[in-house]
This record gives sequence, C-alpha cells and structure tokens, in this order.
Amino acid sequence: MADIIHLLPDSVANQIAAGEVVQRPASAVKELLENAIDAGATNIQLIIKDAGKTLIQVIDNGNGMSDTDARLAFERHATSKIKNANDLFSIKTMGFRGEALASIAAIAQVELKSKLHEQALGTQVLIEGSEFKCQEVCQFSNGTSIAVKNLFFNVPARRNFLKSDIQEFNHINEEFTRIAIINPNISFSFHHNGKLVFQLDKSNQKQRIVNILGKTYNEKLIPVQQETNIIKFTGFIGKPEFARKTRGEQYFFVNNRFFKHPYFYHAIENAFQELLPEKSFPTYFINFEIDPKEIDINIHPTKTEIKFLDEKTIYALLRSVVKQSIGKFNLSPTLDFEIEQSLSLNPPPKGYDLKPPTIKINPEFNPFDKKNTFSYQSKTQTDREISNQHNWEKLYEERKNQVLFKREIVETQQKIEIKQTENENITNVSFFQLQNKYIVTSIKSGLLIIDQQRASERILFEQFTESIINKTSFSQQQLFPQTIVFNHNDTELIKELKTDLYYLGFDINDFGLNTFVVNGCPADCIDENPQHLIEGMLENYKKNLTDLKIESKINLALSMSRNMAIKYGRKLEKEEIQNLIDKLFACKLPYQSPSGKKILFTLTMDELSEKLK
Ligand code: ADP
Ligand code: MG
Repeated sequence: MADIIHLLPDSVANQIAAGEVVQRPASAVKELLENAIDAGATNIQLIIKDAGKTLIQVIDNGNGMSDTDARLAFERHATSKIKNANDLFSIKTMGFRGEALASIAAIAQVELKSKLHEQALGTQVLIEGSEFKCQEVCQFSNGTSIAVKNLFFNVPARRNFLKSDIQEFNHINEEFTRIAIINPNISFSFHHNGKLVFQLDKSNQKQRIVNILGKTYNEKLIPVQQETNIIKFTGFIGKPEFARKTRGEQYFFVNNRFFKHPYFYHAIENAFQELLPEKSFPTYFINFEIDPKEIDINIHPTKTEIKFLDEKTIYALLRSVVKQSIGKFNLSPTLDFEIEQSLSLNPPPKGYDLKPPTIKINPEFNPFDKKNTFSYQSKTQTDREISNQHNWEKLYEERKNQVLFKREIVETQQKIEIKQTENENITNVSFFQLQNKYIVTSIKSGLLIIDQQRASERILFEQFTESIINKTSFSQQQLFPQTIVFNHNDTELIKELKTDLYYLGFDINDFGLNTFVVNGCPADCIDENPQHLIEGMLENYKKNLTDLKIESKINLALSMSRNMAIKYGRKLEKEEIQNLIDKLFACKLPYQSPSGKKILFTLTMDELSEKLK
C-alpha cells in the first residue's frame, strides 16, 4: 500500500493554529495590543471598523522592527521573546509563543509598517492568507503599525460565525479595557468607525480606572496595597455599598496581565463577607506581582486562567489584605473631599484609636520555608499589633452591623413591596407619617422612625455634593425665565459662586446692574419660586460662612439642601414617603443629617417589651 502521511503546507497549518489563537476580532486586538506593549510603546492607537470585521489596526511608538524581523515576525514560532526553554521560567512579556502574527496573517490581509528608531526609513510588508505579497521601503514614524483587514476572508465558515457588530464590539471593548486599565503609564486611543471611543492619557492607576469606567468610580474605590516576600498586591476594591448586581468590574492581573481565578475570587468574596448586599458582586482591580517562577506560564495564549504554585498561601494573603483595606476605609472620610470631617460632623465614637491599623502580615514570612508554615498570623505579633488588630476588628464589626442594619431595612422594604402587590389591604400598614414630621415603619427587629426633614436634607446634600464633585448639573429649564434684582453684596456673591451654582442646577445669566435672569432651576424644585430659592439659599450660605468655617462648595451644598429639604409639617403622599426611604438608604451616611443630627431611631422588639413590662 502506498504511503499516505504527508506534511501539511505551512499555510494550512497556520490556518489550523489560527483557529485556536484568533476566535474573533477581539482576539486579534488582544494580540496586537500585547505586542505593542512588549515593544515598549508609550503610546498605542487602536482603530477598528465594523467591530473589527473590516479593519483592526494598532499603531505604536515602540521599538519597531528591522527589515528582516518584519518578515520573520509572520513565521510560526518566530519570536524575539525567548531563546531557550529556560527562558520560559522568567518570562515577563505578554507573548512568547511566536504564534499570533502567523495565525492572524493566515486568515486576513495584513499590512505591516515599521521603523527602528535609529533608521531613517521604515519597511512595509503585505501578506494575505499566509501568502507573502511584497516588502518595500516606506516612510514611517518610529514604531509599528499593523493593519488586519477582512478577518476570516478566506474562511467563510468562521466569518459567518461572527456575532453582531454590537457583540463583537463589546468583546473588543473588554479586551481593550483589560489591557488599558492595567497600563496607566501608556497613553491609548481607541476609534471605532471614525468615532473616538477612548482617549486615555498617561495617568496614575486610580485615574485610569476612573477614565475608563466613569467619574463615579472616583469615590467608589478603596486602595489595596500589600507587599510580602512572595507577592505584592496593588490596586483597588469597590466599597461594599457600591457592589454591583451584575458580575461586572472584576479584574485580577498577574504581573500586569489579566487573568481569571475562581478560587481567588472566593477569597475576595469571603473578605467582604456579609458586607455585600445580597445577590451583588464585589468590584475589584488587583494586580499580583510575583516571581514568574511561581506561576505556570506554559498556558495557551488565549486562555485567561493562570496557575499559581502555592494557591493556598496566596488565597490567605489576598483575603487578609482585602479585609484590612475594608477595615482601613472605615477610618477615612466617606467622601473624597472630606466633607464630613471638615464640618466635624462625624466624630469617631469615644475610645476609638484613629491610627490606621498596621498590617498584620509578617513581611519576613516565607511560606516556602517549611519550618514556618502558616505561622505568620500570630507568632510575631507585638502587643501594639494585637491592640491594633483588636481595634480594627471592632471597626470591622461596627461597619458590618451598619451595613447589615441598612440591608435589613432595604429587605423589609422589598418585602413590603411584594406584600403590597400580594394584598392591597395591608398597604397602609407598611408605613405612615406621624404628625407630619416622622415616618414610622416596621422592620424585622422592631420599629424604625425616620425624621423626614433631616432625611431629606441628607439626600439632597449628597446629591448636591456629588453634582459639584462630578461637575454635573441637573437643571430644569424654566418655561418663563425670571428676572431677579439682587442687592450689591448678593450680586457679588452670585458672581463668585456662579460655576458651582450651575452644578447645583441653577442656570443664571448676569445681565449687569445687579440683574440676573434665571433660565433653569434644580430639577427637583420646578414649582418653587426661583427668587425665594436663591435668596433662601444665600441666606443659609452667609449664615454658615460666619458660624461654620467650611469650604465654599460644601457650604453651598449644605445651604441648598437645607433650603430645599422637605420641612416638618408637610404632609407626604405614599409615593413621596417610599421615595424618601429608598433614597435615604441609598445614601452614604443615612444615619446622620448633614449638620450631624440623628436621622433614624429604632425601637427593637426587646426594648418594646421592656417598656411594656
Ligand atoms: P510573540 O509575541 O509570542 O513573540 P507574535 O507572533 O505576536 O509572537 O510576534 C512575533 C514577533 O514579532 C515578536 O516576538 C516581536 O519580535 C515582533 N513584533 C510583533 N509585534 C511587534 C510590534 N508591535 N513592535 C515590535 N515588534 C513586534
Ligand atoms: Mg505576541
């Protein structure tokens, strides 16, 4: 019988390999971005068309390639990143298998331009379906541009398998985010169909997260920082109250490369414990810096799972650092610009030691040293550490109770809602207004009484400070703009505060001669007379200026919230009460009015039966 085995031509072998490396446009994006980072780029541009189906282009200002390298780069197992098997254990780059470009070129039309910094001219290579078309000299800036056109043009079956543009774009967006978020020292831009999606300048880590995920993250993040002799953790976790209902912002990185790890995820979940509202997921961005020898690098390029040699120890360390970060956050002000502190409204309870807790981990501990196994918790603790730990645990408990309490109320509310739909008859029993001053509602542990005016002040205060911090304005345009004449002093004050008044929702034009036209008012007070609103607010503002030495922005938020708050004596509709309760428990400090007074009062069943003895 004749021999039947033969070697596949390279182009076919590459196409088969491509099936593993490039599943969709997003995989090509990932490979190209990683190559640019490996090339030491400080600026990377990503340009895509039709969710990457027509074009994926990455332009970097990295090292560039020589004429020969530009051609070799497309050969399978062509890499500049490792030379021998030993290098595999110290790999610090993103790629090393030398498969990506060969795979991409097997299933697309690729145009590469590259120039080494020391050369005057660059080189251009065209390659289509693994077929080398041409190479010539070209003009190009320092670095490399790789354009991948018509992905899967020669594999129609795969092309047909691509999802809608929206879905494919989302995949690309996620790959881009995973890379851009952990490389804040590199500036990135990202265009889709000619429109700018992201322009990210070089920044610090927190700023990069905020720039990608939105300004609201500015106050949602708690820093995580811990170095031991086997691993260093850096990054951020989301405050428990901002936990998301969907498994959204969860990012682990090892040596700046994204990975997934259900076991370590569990460590984080465990550290948050009951602090997380039910059915919600913690947010985290944590980078693990570790000796490459401690991880199994021989993983498939497209896989995001990574194996660590000593997962148990890392689990314990991770859980501990996250727990401590949550603990420390209780000692710092809730809002970024220290509102509560500057007003001294939120003094810590007596007996609290305000020193931040010291880290409990012994940096000398080496988990690989068998003599030492798991002794890092107690053996080397000094008295001070023990007292700090005690202190920290107290705070943690405190915090937990607060959140649990908050959750109980929220859950009760949800139950009430369910009950309401089940049985209209009990609707009126769920809460009621007492003397047009307090809201009384029953919770699992007893009775909850809410001060309506203080609750409303708290809600508005947080809304206004948020608008001022985030520079957003919720203004409602007046149907008939009103002209108001102020006295000279107030005129000067309004001019001075104009920008921040805008963020409170006031759209005011200066007409000269102490005259202003009010075009818009804060969204929630459309019925109010603008003149009374502004005057009342200025009154409060001036009073605070002399009474309390506080920052102007806080004073404005405070004055405006007091001015607009629901006052005692106002009868509230059922919906208004519900709204007030919902919004109050979405606040950061639902227990205390902005001027430091109690908002809530609970009477537990035990207390009640005590009174009725
Ligand atoms: P790997 O990244 O695993 O080495 P690739 O196929 O992704 O394999 O790339 C092959 C080689 O081409 C790289 O090792 C590198 O030398 C070179 N290369 C790829 N992209 C770039 C780039 N943007 N700038 C400079 N060199 C690059
Ligand atoms: Mg690569």
